[in-house]
Amino acid sequence: MRGINFLSGCAAAIAVLGTSSHVTAQTPLVRGALQDVSPARLQSDVARLADFGTRHTLSETASETRGIGAARRWLRDQFQGIADATGRNDITVELQRFIQPPNYRIPEEVELVNVVMTVPGMLPEARDRVYVVIGHYDSRNGDAMDFEGDAPGANDDGSGTIAVLEMARVFAPRRLDATVIYMMSAGEEQGLLGARRFAQVALEEGMDIQGVLSNDIVGDPSGPDGRSAPTEVRVFSEGIPMYPESGEMNMIRQLAMESDSPSRQLARFLDDCARRYATDVRPRLIFRPDRFLRGGDHSAFNEQGFAAVRLTEVYEAYDRQHQDIRDVGGRPYGDTAEFVDPEYLAGVVRLNAAALGEMANAPRPPRCNIVITGLETTTTLEWNASTEPDVAGYEVVWRATTDWRWTHVEDVGLVTSHTIDLSKDNWYFGVRAYDREGHRSVVSFPGVDRQ
Ligand SMILES: [Zn+2]
Repeated sequence: MRGINFLSGCAAAIAVLGTSSHVTAQTPLVRGALQDVSPARLQSDVARLADFGTRHTLSETASETRGIGAARRWLRDQFQGIADATGRNDITVELQRFIQPPNYRIPEEVELVNVVMTVPGMLPEARDRVYVVIGHYDSRNGDAMDFEGDAPGANDDGSGTIAVLEMARVFAPRRLDATVIYMMSAGEEQGLLGARRFAQVALEEGMDIQGVLSNDIVGDPSGPDGRSAPTEVRVFSEGIPMYPESGEMNMIRQLAMESDSPSRQLARFLDDCARRYATDVRPRLIFRPDRFLRGGDHSAFNEQGFAAVRLTEVYEAYDRQHQDIRDVGGRPYGDTAEFVDPEYLAGVVRLNAAALGEMANAPRPPRCNIVITGLETTTTLEWNASTEPDVAGYEVVWRATTDWRWTHVEDVGLVTSHTIDLSKDNWYFGVRAYDREGHRSVVSFPGVDRQ
Protein backbone atom coordinates (compact mmCIF):
# COMPACT_ATOMS: atom_id res chain seq x y z
CA MET A 1 0.00 0.00 0.00
CA ARG A 2 1.52 3.27 -1.09
CA GLY A 3 -0.35 5.37 1.41
CA ILE A 4 -3.85 6.51 2.02
CA ASN A 5 -4.74 10.16 2.16
CA PHE A 6 -7.85 11.77 3.46
CA LEU A 7 -9.13 14.08 0.74
CA SER A 8 -10.87 16.09 3.41
CA GLY A 9 -7.59 17.78 4.15
CA CYS A 10 -7.11 16.57 7.71
CA ALA A 11 -3.46 17.46 8.17
CA ALA A 12 -2.81 15.00 10.98
CA ALA A 13 -4.21 12.11 8.94
CA ILE A 14 -2.08 13.02 5.94
CA ALA A 15 1.03 13.24 8.05
CA VAL A 16 0.40 9.83 9.55
CA LEU A 17 -0.94 8.01 6.55
CA GLY A 18 0.03 9.92 3.48
CA THR A 19 2.99 9.92 1.15
CA SER A 20 1.89 12.90 -0.89
CA SER A 21 -0.87 15.40 -0.50
CA HIS A 22 -3.69 14.91 -2.97
CA VAL A 23 -5.35 17.95 -1.51
CA THR A 24 -2.77 20.43 -2.72
CA ALA A 25 -1.13 18.65 -5.67
CA GLN A 26 -1.08 21.14 -8.57
CA THR A 27 0.45 21.01 -12.00
CA PRO A 28 2.41 23.92 -13.52
CA LEU A 29 0.29 23.93 -16.67
CA VAL A 30 -3.01 24.36 -14.86
CA ARG A 31 -1.59 26.77 -12.30
CA GLY A 32 -0.23 28.93 -15.11
CA ALA A 33 -3.58 28.92 -16.89
CA LEU A 34 -5.35 30.07 -13.74
CA GLN A 35 -2.88 32.91 -13.28
CA ASP A 36 -3.52 34.14 -16.82
CA VAL A 37 -7.25 34.69 -16.25
CA SER A 38 -7.82 38.45 -16.37
CA PRO A 39 -10.70 40.13 -14.51
CA ALA A 40 -10.10 43.37 -16.43
CA ARG A 41 -10.40 41.60 -19.78
CA LEU A 42 -13.53 39.79 -18.61
CA GLN A 43 -15.08 43.08 -17.57
CA SER A 44 -14.40 44.85 -20.87
CA ASP A 45 -15.50 41.83 -22.94
CA VAL A 46 -18.81 41.51 -21.06
CA ALA A 47 -19.45 45.24 -21.56
CA ARG A 48 -18.57 44.96 -25.26
CA LEU A 49 -20.99 42.08 -25.73
CA ALA A 50 -23.78 43.91 -23.87
CA ASP A 51 -23.21 46.90 -26.17
CA PHE A 52 -24.74 45.02 -29.09
CA GLY A 53 -28.04 46.05 -27.51
CA THR A 54 -29.85 42.79 -28.04
CA ARG A 55 -28.70 39.31 -28.97
CA HIS A 56 -32.19 37.91 -29.24
CA THR A 57 -32.15 34.87 -31.52
CA LEU A 58 -34.62 36.57 -33.89
CA SER A 59 -32.93 39.97 -33.80
CA GLU A 60 -31.43 41.56 -36.87
CA THR A 61 -28.26 40.22 -38.44
CA ALA A 62 -27.31 42.89 -41.01
CA SER A 63 -26.21 45.71 -38.69
CA GLU A 64 -22.56 45.94 -37.72
CA THR A 65 -23.36 47.42 -34.32
CA ARG A 66 -26.61 45.91 -33.06
CA GLY A 67 -28.22 42.50 -32.91
CA ILE A 68 -27.17 38.87 -32.79
CA GLY A 69 -25.42 38.90 -36.19
CA ALA A 70 -22.98 41.65 -35.23
CA ALA A 71 -22.43 40.00 -31.84
CA ARG A 72 -21.52 36.63 -33.29
CA ARG A 73 -19.20 38.11 -35.89
CA TRP A 74 -17.39 39.92 -33.07
CA LEU A 75 -17.19 36.69 -31.06
CA ARG A 76 -15.90 34.81 -34.10
CA ASP A 77 -13.25 37.48 -34.64
CA GLN A 78 -12.12 37.12 -31.00
CA PHE A 79 -11.78 33.36 -31.45
CA GLN A 80 -9.93 33.88 -34.74
CA GLY A 81 -7.49 36.27 -33.09
CA ILE A 82 -6.79 33.70 -30.37
CA ALA A 83 -6.31 30.94 -32.95
CA ASP A 84 -4.02 33.08 -35.12
CA ALA A 85 -1.84 34.02 -32.16
CA THR A 86 -1.00 30.35 -31.54
CA GLY A 87 0.59 29.90 -34.96
CA ARG A 88 -1.19 26.53 -35.23
CA ASN A 89 -3.01 25.76 -38.44
CA ASP A 90 -5.17 22.93 -37.07
CA ILE A 91 -7.44 25.13 -34.92
CA THR A 92 -10.82 25.78 -36.52
CA VAL A 93 -13.14 28.72 -35.89
CA GLU A 94 -16.59 28.32 -37.36
CA LEU A 95 -19.99 29.90 -37.56
CA GLN A 96 -21.98 26.64 -37.56
CA ARG A 97 -25.27 27.44 -39.26
CA PHE A 98 -28.48 25.44 -39.35
CA ILE A 99 -32.09 26.11 -40.21
CA GLN A 100 -34.43 25.96 -37.24
CA PRO A 101 -38.04 25.11 -38.07
CA PRO A 102 -40.83 26.97 -36.22
CA ASN A 103 -41.60 26.07 -32.62
CA TYR A 104 -43.44 27.72 -29.73
CA ARG A 105 -40.77 30.43 -29.57
CA ILE A 106 -39.74 30.48 -33.24
CA PRO A 107 -42.64 31.92 -35.27
CA GLU A 108 -41.07 31.18 -38.62
CA GLU A 109 -38.07 29.33 -39.98
CA VAL A 110 -34.82 31.01 -38.96
CA GLU A 111 -31.11 30.45 -39.38
CA LEU A 112 -29.38 29.72 -36.08
CA VAL A 113 -25.63 30.01 -35.72
CA ASN A 114 -23.34 28.51 -33.09
CA VAL A 115 -19.89 30.08 -32.72
CA VAL A 116 -17.42 27.25 -32.29
CA MET A 117 -13.66 27.04 -31.88
CA THR A 118 -12.09 23.59 -31.91
CA VAL A 119 -8.58 23.06 -30.58
CA PRO A 120 -7.41 19.53 -31.43
CA GLY A 121 -5.59 17.61 -28.75
CA MET A 122 -1.80 17.51 -28.98
CA LEU A 123 -1.52 13.85 -27.96
CA PRO A 124 -2.59 11.65 -30.90
CA GLU A 125 -3.86 8.87 -28.59
CA ALA A 126 -6.01 11.39 -26.69
CA ARG A 127 -7.25 13.50 -29.59
CA ASP A 128 -10.55 11.60 -29.90
CA ARG A 129 -11.50 12.61 -26.37
CA VAL A 130 -13.47 15.84 -26.50
CA TYR A 131 -14.38 18.32 -23.77
CA VAL A 132 -16.87 21.10 -24.38
CA VAL A 133 -17.15 24.42 -22.57
CA ILE A 134 -20.27 26.31 -23.51
CA GLY A 135 -22.14 29.53 -22.84
CA HIS A 136 -25.17 30.81 -24.74
CA TYR A 137 -24.66 34.12 -26.48
CA ASP A 138 -28.30 34.84 -27.21
CA SER A 139 -30.28 37.03 -24.82
CA ARG A 140 -33.85 38.04 -24.07
CA ASN A 141 -35.81 40.60 -22.08
CA GLY A 142 -39.20 40.42 -20.34
CA ASP A 143 -40.90 39.17 -23.50
CA ALA A 144 -39.28 36.04 -24.92
CA MET A 145 -40.50 37.04 -28.39
CA ASP A 146 -39.30 40.69 -28.33
CA PHE A 147 -36.50 40.69 -30.89
CA GLU A 148 -36.16 44.47 -31.11
CA GLY A 149 -36.11 45.86 -27.58
CA ASP A 150 -32.91 46.10 -25.56
CA ALA A 151 -31.75 42.82 -24.02
CA PRO A 152 -28.10 43.36 -23.06
CA GLY A 153 -27.82 39.91 -21.44
CA ALA A 154 -24.66 40.87 -19.59
CA ASN A 155 -25.01 38.13 -17.00
CA ASP A 156 -27.45 35.82 -18.82
CA ASP A 157 -25.45 34.73 -20.54
CA GLY A 158 -22.81 37.27 -21.49
CA SER A 159 -20.92 36.08 -18.42
CA GLY A 160 -20.86 32.46 -19.58
CA THR A 161 -20.08 33.43 -23.18
CA ILE A 162 -17.12 35.55 -22.12
CA ALA A 163 -16.03 32.82 -19.69
CA VAL A 164 -15.75 30.50 -22.70
CA LEU A 165 -13.77 33.14 -24.60
CA GLU A 166 -11.39 33.65 -21.68
CA MET A 167 -10.79 29.91 -21.35
CA ALA A 168 -9.99 29.74 -25.04
CA ARG A 169 -7.49 32.58 -24.51
CA VAL A 170 -5.66 30.97 -21.62
CA PHE A 171 -5.60 27.43 -23.00
CA ALA A 172 -5.06 27.89 -26.75
CA PRO A 173 -1.34 28.65 -26.29
CA ARG A 174 -0.95 25.68 -23.92
CA ARG A 175 -0.50 22.04 -24.71
CA LEU A 176 -3.57 19.94 -23.88
CA ASP A 177 -3.67 16.24 -24.67
CA ALA A 178 -7.36 16.01 -25.55
CA THR A 179 -9.51 18.10 -27.89
CA VAL A 180 -11.41 21.07 -26.48
CA ILE A 181 -14.41 22.69 -28.14
CA TYR A 182 -15.16 26.25 -27.06
CA MET A 183 -18.75 26.91 -27.93
CA MET A 184 -21.12 29.86 -27.83
CA SER A 185 -24.60 28.63 -28.54
CA ALA A 186 -27.60 30.37 -30.06
CA GLY A 187 -31.27 29.87 -29.28
CA GLU A 188 -30.93 28.79 -25.65
CA GLU A 189 -33.69 31.16 -24.62
CA GLN A 190 -35.90 29.83 -27.43
CA GLY A 191 -35.57 26.20 -26.29
CA LEU A 192 -31.90 25.09 -26.07
CA LEU A 193 -31.85 25.02 -29.86
CA GLY A 194 -28.17 25.59 -30.66
CA ALA A 195 -26.84 23.22 -28.01
CA ARG A 196 -29.38 20.54 -28.90
CA ARG A 197 -28.47 20.68 -32.55
CA PHE A 198 -24.78 20.43 -31.73
CA ALA A 199 -25.27 17.51 -29.31
CA GLN A 200 -27.45 15.60 -31.80
CA VAL A 201 -24.89 15.95 -34.56
CA ALA A 202 -22.10 15.01 -32.15
CA LEU A 203 -23.91 11.79 -31.24
CA GLU A 204 -24.66 10.96 -34.88
CA GLU A 205 -21.02 11.51 -35.82
CA GLY A 206 -19.77 9.45 -32.91
CA MET A 207 -17.94 12.31 -31.26
CA ASP A 208 -16.52 11.08 -27.96
CA ILE A 209 -17.62 13.93 -25.68
CA GLN A 210 -16.33 13.09 -22.22
CA GLY A 211 -17.56 16.14 -20.37
CA VAL A 212 -19.44 19.39 -20.87
CA LEU A 213 -19.16 22.48 -18.65
CA SER A 214 -22.05 24.86 -19.27
CA ASN A 215 -21.67 28.30 -17.74
CA ASP A 216 -24.98 30.10 -17.60
CA ILE A 217 -25.45 33.12 -15.30
CA VAL A 218 -22.05 33.10 -13.60
CA GLY A 219 -21.16 36.78 -13.22
CA ASP A 220 -23.09 38.26 -10.32
CA PRO A 221 -22.70 36.81 -6.82
CA SER A 222 -25.23 39.22 -5.28
CA GLY A 223 -28.88 38.37 -4.95
CA PRO A 224 -32.01 40.06 -3.72
CA ASP A 225 -32.21 41.61 -0.25
CA GLY A 226 -28.48 41.98 0.27
CA ARG A 227 -27.69 38.29 -0.02
CA SER A 228 -24.38 37.42 -1.62
CA ALA A 229 -22.24 34.34 -2.21
CA PRO A 230 -18.99 35.60 -3.76
CA THR A 231 -17.04 32.42 -2.99
CA GLU A 232 -19.49 29.87 -4.38
CA VAL A 233 -21.09 28.77 -7.61
CA ARG A 234 -23.75 26.10 -7.93
CA VAL A 235 -22.97 23.02 -10.00
CA PHE A 236 -26.03 21.09 -11.14
CA SER A 237 -25.73 17.47 -12.27
CA GLU A 238 -28.24 14.80 -13.20
CA GLY A 239 -28.19 11.54 -11.22
CA ILE A 240 -30.51 9.48 -13.42
CA PRO A 241 -30.15 9.56 -17.21
CA MET A 242 -32.82 11.49 -19.05
CA TYR A 243 -33.37 8.73 -21.59
CA PRO A 244 -32.03 5.49 -20.09
CA GLU A 245 -31.07 2.68 -22.40
CA SER A 246 -32.66 -0.73 -22.10
CA GLY A 247 -31.63 -2.31 -18.79
CA GLU A 248 -29.87 0.82 -17.59
CA MET A 249 -32.37 1.67 -14.85
CA ASN A 250 -32.19 -1.89 -13.58
CA MET A 251 -28.40 -1.66 -13.37
CA ILE A 252 -28.61 1.69 -11.58
CA ARG A 253 -30.95 0.14 -9.04
CA GLN A 254 -28.90 -3.05 -8.59
CA LEU A 255 -25.63 -1.19 -8.06
CA ALA A 256 -27.31 1.62 -6.08
CA MET A 257 -25.64 4.11 -8.40
CA GLU A 258 -28.47 6.64 -8.47
CA SER A 259 -25.98 9.32 -7.45
CA ASP A 260 -23.02 8.07 -9.51
CA SER A 261 -23.79 9.03 -13.09
CA PRO A 262 -20.96 10.37 -15.27
CA SER A 263 -22.41 13.87 -14.86
CA ARG A 264 -22.26 13.56 -11.09
CA GLN A 265 -18.66 12.33 -11.23
CA LEU A 266 -17.92 15.44 -13.29
CA ALA A 267 -19.54 17.60 -10.60
CA ARG A 268 -17.46 15.90 -7.89
CA PHE A 269 -14.39 16.39 -10.06
CA LEU A 270 -14.99 20.16 -10.07
CA ASP A 271 -15.09 20.06 -6.28
CA ASP A 272 -11.86 18.06 -6.16
CA CYS A 273 -10.12 20.50 -8.52
CA ALA A 274 -11.33 23.48 -6.48
CA ARG A 275 -9.71 22.00 -3.37
CA ARG A 276 -6.46 21.17 -5.11
CA TYR A 277 -6.09 24.58 -6.72
CA ALA A 278 -7.57 26.46 -3.76
CA THR A 279 -9.83 28.40 -6.11
CA ASP A 280 -11.50 31.53 -4.75
CA VAL A 281 -14.85 30.32 -6.03
CA ARG A 282 -15.85 26.85 -4.85
CA PRO A 283 -18.60 24.71 -6.31
CA ARG A 284 -21.72 24.10 -4.28
CA LEU A 285 -22.87 20.78 -5.68
CA ILE A 286 -26.60 20.56 -6.21
CA PHE A 287 -27.72 17.01 -6.83
CA ARG A 288 -30.49 17.70 -9.32
CA PRO A 289 -30.38 18.17 -13.09
CA ASP A 290 -30.95 21.94 -12.96
CA ARG A 291 -32.86 24.51 -10.97
CA PHE A 292 -36.33 23.26 -10.00
CA LEU A 293 -38.21 22.16 -13.15
CA ARG A 294 -35.83 24.11 -15.40
CA GLY A 295 -33.17 23.28 -17.97
CA GLY A 296 -30.26 24.72 -19.90
CA ASP A 297 -27.72 23.90 -22.58
CA HIS A 298 -26.21 21.12 -20.44
CA SER A 299 -29.64 19.42 -20.55
CA ALA A 300 -29.37 19.25 -24.34
CA PHE A 301 -26.15 17.24 -23.92
CA ASN A 302 -27.67 15.09 -21.15
CA GLU A 303 -30.52 14.27 -23.57
CA GLN A 304 -27.98 12.62 -25.87
CA GLY A 305 -26.34 10.73 -23.00
CA PHE A 306 -23.28 12.97 -22.55
CA ALA A 307 -21.90 13.92 -19.13
CA ALA A 308 -22.71 17.60 -18.66
CA VAL A 309 -23.08 19.96 -15.73
CA ARG A 310 -24.36 23.49 -15.31
CA LEU A 311 -22.62 26.25 -13.36
CA THR A 312 -24.80 29.08 -12.08
CA GLU A 313 -24.27 31.65 -9.33
CA VAL A 314 -25.90 30.87 -5.97
CA TYR A 315 -28.39 33.76 -5.82
CA GLU A 316 -30.04 34.72 -9.07
CA ALA A 317 -31.28 38.30 -9.11
CA TYR A 318 -34.62 38.10 -10.92
CA ASP A 319 -34.80 41.90 -11.19
CA ARG A 320 -31.94 41.62 -13.63
CA GLN A 321 -32.78 38.39 -15.45
CA HIS A 322 -35.15 38.33 -18.44
CA GLN A 323 -36.21 41.89 -17.61
CA ASP A 324 -36.78 45.00 -19.68
CA ILE A 325 -34.39 47.79 -18.70
CA ARG A 326 -36.40 50.23 -16.58
CA ASP A 327 -36.59 51.94 -13.26
CA VAL A 328 -39.48 51.28 -10.92
CA GLY A 329 -39.52 53.60 -7.93
CA GLY A 330 -35.74 53.90 -7.89
CA ARG A 331 -35.26 50.17 -8.32
CA PRO A 332 -33.30 49.29 -11.48
CA TYR A 333 -34.37 46.38 -13.67
CA GLY A 334 -32.46 44.76 -16.53
CA ASP A 335 -29.40 42.61 -17.20
CA THR A 336 -26.78 45.33 -17.62
CA ALA A 337 -23.00 45.03 -17.45
CA GLU A 338 -22.55 47.08 -14.27
CA PHE A 339 -23.92 44.17 -12.22
CA VAL A 340 -21.35 41.67 -13.45
CA ASP A 341 -18.53 41.39 -10.91
CA PRO A 342 -15.28 40.74 -12.84
CA GLU A 343 -13.47 39.27 -9.83
CA TYR A 344 -16.25 36.80 -9.20
CA LEU A 345 -16.48 35.90 -12.89
CA ALA A 346 -12.70 35.38 -12.92
CA GLY A 347 -13.09 33.03 -9.96
CA VAL A 348 -15.67 30.98 -11.85
CA VAL A 349 -13.43 30.88 -14.93
CA ARG A 350 -10.51 29.65 -12.82
CA LEU A 351 -12.66 26.88 -11.39
CA ASN A 352 -13.64 25.83 -14.92
CA ALA A 353 -10.05 26.12 -16.06
CA ALA A 354 -8.74 23.94 -13.25
CA ALA A 355 -11.17 21.19 -14.20
CA LEU A 356 -10.70 21.59 -17.95
CA GLY A 357 -6.90 21.58 -17.78
CA GLU A 358 -6.85 18.57 -15.47
CA MET A 359 -9.27 16.36 -17.37
CA ALA A 360 -8.01 17.30 -20.82
CA ASN A 361 -4.46 16.38 -19.86
CA ALA A 362 -5.13 13.39 -17.64
CA PRO A 363 -5.40 9.98 -19.27
CA ARG A 364 -8.87 8.76 -20.20
CA PRO A 365 -10.80 7.51 -17.14
CA PRO A 366 -10.47 3.71 -17.08
CA ARG A 367 -13.44 1.43 -17.62
CA CYS A 368 -13.60 -0.50 -14.36
CA ASN A 369 -15.52 -3.29 -12.68
CA ILE A 370 -15.92 -4.78 -9.24
CA VAL A 371 -14.95 -8.42 -9.57
CA ILE A 372 -17.31 -10.93 -7.95
CA THR A 373 -15.99 -14.44 -7.32
CA GLY A 374 -18.11 -15.28 -4.26
CA LEU A 375 -18.93 -13.80 -0.90
CA GLU A 376 -15.96 -11.96 0.55
CA THR A 377 -15.23 -9.07 2.89
CA THR A 378 -12.72 -7.39 0.60
CA THR A 379 -13.33 -5.54 -2.67
CA THR A 380 -11.44 -6.24 -5.89
CA LEU A 381 -11.49 -3.74 -8.70
CA GLU A 382 -10.14 -4.29 -12.19
CA TRP A 383 -9.87 -1.90 -15.11
CA ASN A 384 -8.55 -1.64 -18.64
CA ALA A 385 -5.05 -0.33 -19.20
CA SER A 386 -4.87 3.14 -20.69
CA THR A 387 -3.74 3.34 -24.30
CA GLU A 388 -2.39 6.85 -23.72
CA PRO A 389 1.41 6.79 -23.43
CA ASP A 390 1.70 9.30 -20.59
CA VAL A 391 -0.36 7.30 -18.10
CA ALA A 392 1.65 6.97 -14.89
CA GLY A 393 -0.78 5.16 -12.62
CA TYR A 394 -4.19 4.82 -11.08
CA GLU A 395 -5.88 5.77 -7.87
CA VAL A 396 -8.74 3.98 -6.13
CA VAL A 397 -11.12 6.33 -4.35
CA TRP A 398 -13.95 5.53 -2.00
CA ARG A 399 -16.61 7.06 0.20
CA ALA A 400 -19.32 6.01 2.62
CA THR A 401 -22.69 5.43 0.96
CA THR A 402 -24.05 8.55 2.68
CA ASP A 403 -21.19 10.85 1.63
CA TRP A 404 -21.60 13.27 -1.26
CA ARG A 405 -17.96 13.26 -2.33
CA TRP A 406 -15.01 10.88 -2.52
CA THR A 407 -13.30 11.06 0.87
CA HIS A 408 -10.45 8.55 0.55
CA VAL A 409 -7.83 7.78 -2.05
CA GLU A 410 -5.15 5.18 -2.50
CA ASP A 411 -2.44 5.43 -5.12
CA VAL A 412 -2.12 1.90 -6.47
CA GLY A 413 0.43 2.62 -9.20
CA LEU A 414 0.60 1.33 -12.75
CA VAL A 415 -1.54 -1.78 -12.35
CA THR A 416 -4.93 -2.85 -13.68
CA SER A 417 -6.45 -4.46 -10.60
CA HIS A 418 -6.42 -3.89 -6.90
CA THR A 419 -7.95 -5.47 -3.83
CA ILE A 420 -8.84 -3.27 -0.91
CA ASP A 421 -9.66 -4.46 2.59
CA LEU A 422 -13.08 -2.84 2.76
CA SER A 423 -16.47 -4.32 1.97
CA LYS A 424 -18.33 -3.25 -1.17
CA ASP A 425 -21.47 -3.66 0.94
CA ASN A 426 -20.57 -0.53 2.88
CA TRP A 427 -18.61 1.71 0.54
CA TYR A 428 -18.73 3.17 -2.93
CA PHE A 429 -15.53 2.83 -4.96
CA GLY A 430 -14.15 4.44 -8.07
CA VAL A 431 -10.95 4.51 -10.14
CA ARG A 432 -9.14 7.39 -11.80
CA ALA A 433 -5.98 7.63 -13.90
CA TYR A 434 -3.13 10.12 -13.60
CA ASP A 435 -0.32 11.11 -15.92
CA ARG A 436 3.37 11.80 -15.35
CA GLU A 437 2.77 15.45 -14.42
CA GLY A 438 0.02 14.53 -11.97
CA HIS A 439 -3.08 15.46 -13.97
CA ARG A 440 -5.91 13.31 -12.69
CA SER A 441 -8.93 12.07 -14.61
CA VAL A 442 -12.55 12.21 -13.58
CA VAL A 443 -13.46 9.20 -11.43
CA SER A 444 -14.90 6.20 -13.24
CA PHE A 445 -17.65 4.32 -11.39
CA PRO A 446 -17.39 0.54 -11.62
CA GLY A 447 -19.79 -1.94 -13.12
CA VAL A 448 -19.72 -5.61 -12.18
CA ASP A 449 -17.72 -8.54 -13.51
CA ARG A 450 -19.07 -11.87 -12.19
CA GLN A 451 -16.38 -14.52 -12.51
ZN1 LIG B 1 -29.24 31.62 -19.59
